[in-house]
Amino acid sequence: MSQAVCILGATGSIGQSTLKILQRHPEAYSVYAVTAQSRIAELVEICKQFRPKIAVVPAFKVDELAQLLKQQQLSEIEILPDEAGLIAVAEHPEVDIVMAAIVGAAGLLPTLAAVKAGKRVLLANKEALVMSGDIMMQAARDHGALLLPVDSEHNAIFQCLPANYFDAERNGQPKLGVQQILLTASGGPFLNHTFDQLQTVTPAQACKHPNWSMGQKISVDSATLMNKGLELIEACHLFAVKEQFVTVVVHPQSIIHSMVQYVDGSTLAQMGNPDMCTPIAHALAWPERISTHVAPLDLFVHSQLNFQQPDTQRFPALKLARQAMQQGGIAPAILNAANEIAVAAFLHEKITFIQIPQIVEYTLNSMDNRTADQLEVILQADRQARDIARQFVVNKGS
Ligand code: NAD
Ligand code: MG
Repeated sequence: MSQAVCILGATGSIGQSTLKILQRHPEAYSVYAVTAQSRIAELVEICKQFRPKIAVVPAFKVDELAQLLKQQQLSEIEILPDEAGLIAVAEHPEVDIVMAAIVGAAGLLPTLAAVKAGKRVLLANKEALVMSGDIMMQAARDHGALLLPVDSEHNAIFQCLPANYFDAERNGQPKLGVQQILLTASGGPFLNHTFDQLQTVTPAQACKHPNWSMGQKISVDSATLMNKGLELIEACHLFAVKEQFVTVVVHPQSIIHSMVQYVDGSTLAQMGNPDMCTPIAHALAWPERISTHVAPLDLFVHSQLNFQQPDTQRFPALKLARQAMQQGGIAPAILNAANEIAVAAFLHEKITFIQIPQIVEYTLNSMDNRTADQLEVILQADRQARDIARQFVVNKGS
């Protein structure tokens, strides 16, 4: 029987890759709902091709979308506005699978709604988990949701862990013979830049990733290594380990997507050409496998695989994220919020590249930590951190 999929963030890079897989397997999946914040013309193209039942856009875009759908004789598609609409489709009783592919904190409430509705949730929106880690993981257990990682590294780790890993006790220690998680990082476009060179890099240079084609925010995060910092926190929550059990390994070719080391000396790696369609297909079909267009790995072409330590002097974001995870509480939510503001300011050329981690550090140091056991505490920390980070941009930015 065909499964109904809701794609939160359908017009984005992950949204588009998801649609590419669904298009390949029309008998197995149907598109029930799609959402977009902007690029309404692209959303209409998606509606034409996939005929969802519901489309969600911001309230001020509803008329524009209604007009365009009418022109295409697609008026039967229901349009829902704003965050309430995102939540409604995420928890919709007709939906089996939710792809959480909104970027940033905006995805938190819809993703959590999908988890609380007990869906199969394919998690690309790492910021949602970074902000609300314990609450999200507990909600998944309480409501029987299947939270499957789409982030390529976490999907790789998931594939390398023992099948019964998630049944075992969660106490911050690796279990079932697992000793260490090796989280790989490409190092981003500025891997070999000196600190001086980093001072003058532009948004266009930062968004040009050597191996992956992605949305702007995650591209900048990859360039600062904040993406790896967010992924470190993501890994701690998904795999229930303390941060000291996650080692970041720079591997510029992005062929090994991450590894798991075992007590007997084994290291298992998941490899493949860098294309998000592989982890998306894996999470859609798990425990089964479905085909993608991704070419099999040719090791005679990729005959050189290199590894090195990350440099937290030039890329302090990774260190800040590790500290935030050690501190726990609302620190990861503060880190994430300040980073979102800083990245947006950098993309608008209001601050320089090296000011991004400075803003994050300043914001973390400006707020007292608290336990993050209530969603409202997290949302409040998010708002306060954004205010502090915005003020830094106004005062210190160019
Ligand atoms: P993107 O910018 O290409 O797309 C983001 C999507 O979210 C778009 O559909 C956009 O309309 C929607 N959106 C943006 N702001 C919104 C808001 N305020 N409210 C509702 N919807 C909003 O981003 P992406 O690269 O596809 O990344 C999406 C998520 O997946 C991010 O959390 C990212 O870290 C994660 N991720 C992406 C990749 C990748 O290769 N692109 C890999 C791993 C993880
Ligand atoms: Mg990743």
